[in-house]
Amino acid sequence: MSEVSAVGELYRGRFAPSPTGRIHLGNARTALIAWLDARQAGGRFVMRIEDVDPLRSRPELEARLLADLRWLGIDWDEGPDVGGPFGPYRQSARSELYEGALARLATYRCSCTRRELRATGAVLEGEEPRYPGTCREGARAPARATAIRWRTPAGTVAFADRVMGPISQDVAATVGDLLLRRSDGAWAYQLAVVVDDAAMGITDVVRGADLLSSTPRQLLLLRALDAQAPSYAHVPLILGEDGQKLSKRHGAPDISALREGGAAPERVIAALAGSLGIVGPEVQAITAAELVGALDLRRLRPTKVAWERLSRGG
Ligand code: GLU
Repeated sequence: MSEVSAVGELYRGRFAPSPTGRIHLGNARTALIAWLDARQAGGRFVMRIEDVDPLRSRPELEARLLADLRWLGIDWDEGPDVGGPFGPYRQSARSELYEGALARLATYRCSCTRRELRATGAVLEGEEPRYPGTCREGARAPARATAIRWRTPAGTVAFADRVMGPISQDVAATVGDLLLRRSDGAWAYQLAVVVDDAAMGITDVVRGADLLSSTPRQLLLLRALDAQAPSYAHVPLILGEDGQKLSKRHGAPDISALREGGAAPERVIAALAGSLGIVGPEVQAITAAELVGALDLRRLRPTKVAWERLSRGG
């Protein structure tokens, strides 16, 4: 944990939800972990709304998720509703910063459609196709609305994750030239998150393990933009019975449903803390604030269906 960053700043953590759905127990647990890590370090906690995709983001979901988090006892020092020195705290209002970063990177226009990419038989690495560089020497169909890609430098990126340990990846070899802006003008998550983490002085990123594969990409972008890299901790997700990341289809209640159904937030926090192994099964109710000091990130393990206890206990 970097209580003080290399530039002498206090710990600055963040939670960066996308307002594209309701917060369920899995996201809430990740938020709790990130919040506890920041509070345990005596740091600041930033709430950033990642509404970078206009097609999927909805303002009413933002209001709901902020209310859900507050109900759980998670608070923030800076955010869209409380302001702060590094605003705006919604990505939809930060386009100028992304434009500025884009101008500093070696990019090219790409006219490839999804269908064309599939037809190239792009190498499959996991589930992600590698962009074969089709438009590197010039967009093949420049009259189309074009996306923007980054000439991603070759070579291995390595870092030490606080939870997952040493991680390395050759980004260019694995996923090819990164997409920075879609052909409809929407900014890519990878660019927006890097620009914002740097501009907001984030020293410690604590987020779900599903984003682990994004981190080498983000480190490369940070390096290209001469920005200081934060430390990263990718925390295990709550898994459903099928071993997949918990989602709506598992039938786990979302936090709004619990809140509106009259559940006590202390019971939800107790269940989440129980799933993290930081309270024993005898603890049925506890506040988030009472857990400050109890979390050791290195001891986290993947967890199955912690929500069952809630559905039984009410
Ligand atoms: N906005 C991303 C999400 O909701 C999280 C980004 C991050 O924590 O880096 O999945």
